[in-house]
Amino acid sequence: MTGERTYLDYNATAPLRPEAYEAVCAAMDGIGNASSVHKEGRDARALVETARQSVARLVGVEPDCVTFTSGGTEANHLAFRQVAEHGATNILYSAVEHPSVAEAARLAGAEANVPVTEIPVDDHGRVSLAALEDLLAGAGEHPFVSVMAANNETGVLQPLKEIADLVHGHRGVLHTDAVQIAGKATFDMRSSGVDMATLSGHKIGGPLGVGAFVLAEDAHVAARQTGGGQERGRRSGTENVSGIAGFGVAASLAANRDDAERMQRLRDRLETSLKASVPDVEFFSSSVDRLPNTSCLGAPGLKAETLLMQLDLAGLAVSAGSACSSGKVARSHVLDAMGVDDELAGGAVRVSLGWKTSEKDIEKFCAAWIKAVQMSKRTSGSGPRLAAAEG
Ligand code: PLP
Repeated sequence: MTGERTYLDYNATAPLRPEAYEAVCAAMDGIGNASSVHKEGRDARALVETARQSVARLVGVEPDCVTFTSGGTEANHLAFRQVAEHGATNILYSAVEHPSVAEAARLAGAEANVPVTEIPVDDHGRVSLAALEDLLAGAGEHPFVSVMAANNETGVLQPLKEIADLVHGHRGVLHTDAVQIAGKATFDMRSSGVDMATLSGHKIGGPLGVGAFVLAEDAHVAARQTGGGQERGRRSGTENVSGIAGFGVAASLAANRDDAERMQRLRDRLETSLKASVPDVEFFSSSVDRLPNTSCLGAPGLKAETLLMQLDLAGLAVSAGSACSSGKVARSHVLDAMGVDDELAGGAVRVSLGWKTSEKDIEKFCAAWIKAVQMSKRTSGSGPRLAAAEG
């Protein structure tokens, strides 16, 4: 039996927008290599450059500041390639970064032979500005700092402008992984004060396997991948023309903020409804600014693995912790860094909404999650307190 599925895992990947699908298909009908001088090549080049304009517009920079990559992971690695270029004396990155940032930081530190240090976060998952200031004071002439704009697990937004002011006050460079914020909340490179950012196509309704490394101002970029000199020598390799075309269309659509308000209404409805039935439920980072589409929730005595299976059987796709390393439910380094206790973190589930999410999807999730809580109490005797009416 194949019942109707409800997809609530947009922070892992968003369903392809129909308009992006059309753009991908149309581009695949062409045959051009964007570096060729003939008409076919020029047509492909035009698709790439139109997409570059859309991506640039989404984050408020000039098109020349955008370098297309194979996704967010590669763009994060390209960002850290700039460590040596900037003569960085120290690398600092927040304790809640995506593993692609943590790994890129470690590699860049080893390559440039500079120390790599984690910046602690508070109980909400926000970078501690006091700790950052202390670290910057001991970070030498030119620190290289990376702090994500929005977290993939909790949706928490970082105070980027304050962070940028501190970093620049210490003659440092600030990179932000903007993979999760793009298309979900306002993000403008210049007003946020960041020097470079990472974007990913598939998180905003574009295709998988395409992303961008973006500079606030056009400048030299040290390449990680060399060869044919594509992307002005910043990232060699024949351009993924169809992927880039789809990414561009998704970026244009992502600029529409109406969707954000709708997602927030639905997310808030989900949280109110769960709280009414299960008073012990906790919504992580909910008392500070967070993405409008994300709810990371936990309750004592639940097991994320069991919950995910029950929800999957009920036709719901959500995730526990970071879905990027999915297949296994590992402890969340984000909840760990926030000091969430093991019992609560062990049952944490992330629900993330997007352009296709409906009220019916939210009702379905709430009913299934509450049922899973009731089942956990019946079978293991553990699980959170239920409101009286729910038994
Ligand atoms: N950064 C963040 C915050 C992410 O959530 C992800 C993917 O989940 C990535 C980077 C990696 O992006 P990509 O899948 O395009 O490599």
